[in-house]
Amino acid sequence: MSYDPLHSISPGEGLDHVDSYWAATAGPSPGDDGRLQSPIETDVAIIGGGYTGLSCAFHLAKRYGVRPVVLEANRPVWGCSGRNGSFAGPALGRVSLSEWAARWGEVGARSLWAEAVSAVETVRSLIKEGNIDCDVQPDGRMRVAHARSTVKKLEEDASVLRSFGAEFEMLTPSEIGEKHFKGKEAHAALRTTYGFVLHPLKLGYGILHMAREAGATVHSASPVLHWSKHGQTHCLDTPDGKVYAKRIVFATNGYTNERLHPTLDSRLLPVLSNIVVTRPMTEAEIGESNFVTTDSISDTRKFLNYFRRLPDGRVMLGSRGPIRESGSAPHRDRLLQIIRRKFPALHSISADYFWGGWVALTPDYMPHVGHAEDDPTAFYAMGYCGSGVSAANQAGRRLAEYLGESKPVPVQLNAQPPRYPLARFRRVGQVAAFQWYGLSDALT
Ligand SMILES: Cc1cc2nc3c(=O)[nH]c(=O)nc-3n(C[C@H](O)[C@H](O)[C@H](O)COP(=O)(O)OP(=O)(O)OC[C@H]3O[C@@H](n4cnc5c(N)ncnc54)[C@H](O)[C@@H]3O)c2cc1C
Repeated sequence: MSYDPLHSISPGEGLDHVDSYWAATAGPSPGDDGRLQSPIETDVAIIGGGYTGLSCAFHLAKRYGVRPVVLEANRPVWGCSGRNGSFAGPALGRVSLSEWAARWGEVGARSLWAEAVSAVETVRSLIKEGNIDCDVQPDGRMRVAHARSTVKKLEEDASVLRSFGAEFEMLTPSEIGEKHFKGKEAHAALRTTYGFVLHPLKLGYGILHMAREAGATVHSASPVLHWSKHGQTHCLDTPDGKVYAKRIVFATNGYTNERLHPTLDSRLLPVLSNIVVTRPMTEAEIGESNFVTTDSISDTRKFLNYFRRLPDGRVMLGSRGPIRESGSAPHRDRLLQIIRRKFPALHSISADYFWGGWVALTPDYMPHVGHAEDDPTAFYAMGYCGSGVSAANQAGRRLAEYLGESKPVPVQLNAQPPRYPLARFRRVGQVAAFQWYGLSDALT
């Protein structure tokens, strides 16, 4: 049976990276501490070796002298962190900017924006501090109205950004065509410089190296299969060794086994997201499409299409995946069709890579960082809703600050995620929601 986090105990054991463009171009891993093979004791055990777990481990070790142990089921950075769309931006969850003020009021929305911008700065400073060579491109982030009727969504977001005093520009279709790309489905664009694109797996490898240099231990091929607590001590069972920890951190996001700990139960909906990467564009195709921008680009669909040009002239595009893992060809071709529709000049472009990964939605579409209501020694950070390059690194840092010096996590993020009502029927609800989103996109 194919893997589904809702039903599987672990995402695997020692699996290699998915066959992605990033894995093909990242170079070798900086190494890890191998499979856990004997019982160990530690102050902090972190379950999951993606951005959340590694950032938490690095900040704990470097800033607070804690020597955490990271337990990763597969290879470090095997999950979404090594296979995402590479956009590092000021995104927290999937709540539109215009909804922020409605949910949290003016002051709350402003402090959330400050946290979102700080998350991007956290990525920047990790790259700087670790001298990580991860193909960072110039700052630039565009949201493009794919239909005339969605231009007003951009205008609403622009007015919120204005109220924050944030810098942005609104681009007309001809400005998009002259400076960025010539394509269909580009009726206006809201462009900011609060984000950039990079090589996500190289970033993850860099943070892995930094965490181990700072004193963290990172065990690969060590899935946590069972949790229990005896007195004040957490006990984590992996196939060949137990970990006894005073404090634990769940950093498993879309790959969470919700039966591992009562606080994880029914709080997430894991959803597949897919990416296609084309062959390099020819000179003629580049000339005709004028696809020269290095910005991250996303559109205004409910089923968001996100795309960018890669440094070697390929086009990367991602969007929602199927409900369950299934044969890749139809899904790859669907994404390829979107590229061809958006860029008529690329009508004969073919795909060289296609892959997917599980992102984690929450009922309120926001990430959450905190500890179990009934146990202040069991922590979690998860639910990035498909926007975790900056948010997960920031969440890992925030958790380290909380564990290291009791610094509070921003109030909008630190409540436990609500549980899904009728949680057993989440996949049924997802089918209904997907149909509605598809219909609503078709109508625009
Ligand atoms: C196709 C795709 C495109 C995306 N594009 C973007 C983008 O452009 N910008 C953006 O901001 N975000 C994007 N995201 C989301 C982003 O990648 C994630 O939110 C982020 O990487 C989450 O980091 P993480 O460390 O919390 O989780 P992950 O990186 O998924 O790591 C979780 C790890 O936990 C491990 N694990 C799970 N269970 C256990 C266990 N029991 N024991 C031990 N280990 C375990 C898994 O093996 C996995 O390695 C994308 C995601 C996907 C799938």
